[in-house]
Amino acid sequence: MRLAARLTGAALITAGFVGLAVAQGPADHPAVTVDGKTYTPASILARNMGSVEDQETAFPPHKVVGNVYYVGTRTLSSFLIVTPQGNILLDTTYERNAPVIRKSVEQLGFTFSDIRIILGNHAHGDHQEGDAVVKQATGAQVMAMAEDVPALRAMKPGGKEHPIDREVHDGERVTLGGATLVAHLTAGHTPGATTWTMKAAEAGKSYDVVFFSSLRAPAAVSPAVAAMFERTFARVRTLPCDVPLGDHPAQYRLQEKYSALKPGAPNPFVDKAGCLTEARIQEAMYRAVLAGK
Ligand SMILES: [Zn+2]
Repeated sequence: MRLAARLTGAALITAGFVGLAVAQGPADHPAVTVDGKTYTPASILARNMGSVEDQETAFPPHKVVGNVYYVGTRTLSSFLIVTPQGNILLDTTYERNAPVIRKSVEQLGFTFSDIRIILGNHAHGDHQEGDAVVKQATGAQVMAMAEDVPALRAMKPGGKEHPIDREVHDGERVTLGGATLVAHLTAGHTPGATTWTMKAAEAGKSYDVVFFSSLRAPAAVSPAVAAMFERTFARVRTLPCDVPLGDHPAQYRLQEKYSALKPGAPNPFVDKAGCLTEARIQEAMYRAVLAGK
């Protein structure tokens, strides 16, 4: 996998084998600065993925807002949307994380087998490899954006077929127990990358929650992929948003917001001003890649 190869490259640089790393792949450019912080492809990847331990260790499970809960690891997001008619799991992450997610669901007082619907942000293993095993354990229906179905079908951990019970299309709704999630095609990172939106109620207020898919561009952008990203970066700016979330916690500064959670204080996950921060970082990087910087 390219991700693994790049991380190995980064590790090799630290170990001093710079020559080998360069021989393996392109150098770590471009660099872009957004809000005073500088990002490179390697720094974004490192921020997103962390160590193997980070990918596999539960982040303390917690309520995000209303009926939305975090049940993922330190660097791979997984969200549980709780309804009176069963629950929705967004992003199963790696298959090996299924027991970690189950434990987090149970720590919050919910039942794993109450998961009725499995959704995903995009067809990469770190977000959707666990779909088959979670479906086996819960009987949930797997629903996925049509444009990502070919890549999902090719994702077969242990030879298991990737289940797809319903293909959704841009703008379609998934409903369960009074919760409605809308699928927005935000393609580019993958052809079917999906940003999901819903409304959550808390303390008498309604909030627009946005589960952003990764908007990270590849090292080289083809014209077809550029067309996807152009549409996507325009699209994400039109989404009503009070609570920005992401498929990797660093995309919405989970650590910092979680530390700010205090009884009686405003909910730190309500962050209208931060709704487009990650999109701006990724668009800056995408434009720098396009310009060949
Ligand atoms: Zn990805």
